Amino acid sequence: MNYKQQLEVIQGLFIPPDTAMRLDCPFCNGKNTLSVDTMHNNINWYCFHASCSAKGKYRGEKNMDYVNSTFKKKEENSDTEFIVPDSFKILDSNDKAKKYIHKNNCWEAWSWGRADIKYDVKQDRVVFLIRDNEDPTTFVGAVGRALNSITYPKWYMYGNKDVPFKCGLEEHKEAIIVEDCASACAVSNILTGVAILGTSLKESHKQYLKQYDKIYVGLDRDATKKSYDIANELKSYGLQNVHVKPLSDDLKYFNTKEIKEMFNGGENEKR
Ligand SMILES: [Zn+2]
Repeated sequence: MNYKQQLEVIQGLFIPPDTAMRLDCPFCNGKNTLSVDTMHNNINWYCFHASCSAKGKYRGEKNMDYVNSTFKKKEENSDTEFIVPDSFKILDSNDKAKKYIHKNNCWEAWSWGRADIKYDVKQDRVVFLIRDNEDPTTFVGAVGRALNSITYPKWYMYGNKDVPFKCGLEEHKEAIIVEDCASACAVSNILTGVAILGTSLKESHKQYLKQYDKIYVGLDRDATKKSYDIANELKSYGLQNVHVKPLSDDLKYFNTKEIKEMFNGGENEKR
């Protein structure tokens, strides 16, 4: 289907303005794989199903809200343009990269399209692409994990360094701040993982977290003090439902079933 035909189908869905949603894809019948947003009078659509070509942007007429938000954005971060390097190859092209995502419970998030993971042949890293906070069809940066012991640093940030890597589902009401991208992927079927990568909380992290009803802070065992500091920072930012989640190990070492028990299990006890 060409662009014009796709646009007609998308417009036929009659999605109200300023809405971002996930739904079943009318092109490939993928369950909940189509992301559509109608922010700023535009329509962006993108299907996360690997073999589906549904993707497009329709630029509507700009209103004042759009102008204000665009110019404000430009002031805040001047160099946001990120072009995915040619050295980023499909994950299947490297066995070490595949092994890494298996061992660290990212496989599920990758195969369901919740995370965009590639292999950087130039730096020998498994890379997690970062989607824009407002427009998930655009990549603003990436985080690469070294796959050998001589590559330094262990985690490398490409492109924009202010937008967090996050992984989850549109319908999630809960999010957890985690140490790294692999942990964010590991939890992503149950709640949305937001990786801070050893940095402090940034304005864009806090902005992004505002949409969640409940926020956990789940850093490494060694980072308990930092977890409480972050929780306090979020509370003073105005987010009230913030909890430090004590962990017996890094979240990336748990599979979905175990994560589910860890979170939903606790929920039920309290109720
Ligand atoms: Zn599709």
